[in-house]
Amino acid sequence: MTDVIDGKKVAEEIKNEIAREVDLLKKKHDKQPGLAVVLVGEDPASQVYVRMKGRDCEQVGIESFQYTLPEETTQEELLKLVKELNGRDDVDGILVQLPLPAHINESLILNTLDPKKDVDGFHPVNVGKLVTGDEDTFYPCTPYGCQELINRHVSDLKGKHLVIVGRSNIVGKPMANLMVQKNQRANCIVTICHTAAPDISYYTRQADILVVAAGRPEVVSGEMVKEGVVVIDVGINRIDDPVNEGKKKLIGDVRYEDVAEKASAITPVPGGVGPMTRVMLLKNTLKAFKQHNNIA
Ligand code: NAD
Repeated sequence: MTDVIDGKKVAEEIKNEIAREVDLLKKKHDKQPGLAVVLVGEDPASQVYVRMKGRDCEQVGIESFQYTLPEETTQEELLKLVKELNGRDDVDGILVQLPLPAHINESLILNTLDPKKDVDGFHPVNVGKLVTGDEDTFYPCTPYGCQELINRHVSDLKGKHLVIVGRSNIVGKPMANLMVQKNQRANCIVTICHTAAPDISYYTRQADILVVAAGRPEVVSGEMVKEGVVVIDVGINRIDDPVNEGKKKLIGDVRYEDVAEKASAITPVPGGVGPMTRVMLLKNTLKAFKQHNNIA
């Protein structure tokens, strides 16, 4: 029987734990965590993500400060805002929604964030700490959420072959760095495959755990995986719905029906990794708040 990994349910459990902890901290310290989310431009998907982040914060008692800036905002204006947020005592975490408009240098902005408020984990200091295994960092939310799901479904990861499809800085590379560390939550043998591979199935077939983050609909099919594999499908692809004409539907990077036949466990799309990404941002913000206020 294939186990469908319910990311929505796990995320809800974690969210409730966070809400309880925030409530206790508020009573004890008379303070609440604060997350600043900065959006530049009118990208509809980004607008939705930012709105959802605000709502998530509200639900767990984190104060959310949203900055929606026009497309023509200059790099200098954005830098000024980031520096101001770095210095604010009521802001524990800062998230600059990516992608930024082309006239703004993304890495310059990310490098300007205070690493201690970088709850997305993209500042080079935090990336370096992830690579070296220093836990005084923030793990990027999507790989962190995938790790949480893997930990809840595979009891002993030591020596398991974890194969990742995709090498982005947001998912593939940090996922590999998380899962290769020598600790109980990881300790895997890790392979990353990507577009330079003549045939990714050579790698995917070897996976005990397969994480797919290619951003291409259904690149992994049933014949490309082995029996009993645990599959984490990160992909979100919006395609025309073949059943409801004129409507769109979301599918993953994995061809769900035939991969599920062979997998021992698999995440659905939607309802798998997506909700986990959102809740890990709240978890990182709570961590930032506790560090900022020297709370153990
Ligand atoms: P990206 O486009 O930055 O990177 C995709 C990577 O996959 C690249 O490294 C590329 O080399 C590789 N790739 C592309 N096609 C391939 C193929 N046919 N074979 C092998 N490798 C291939 O994308 P990303 O930001 O890493 O996101 C990946 C997917 O995950 C997207 O669908 C995105 O929407 C989704 N995503 C979901 C969440 C979530 O919360 N669920 C978060 C981030 C990204």
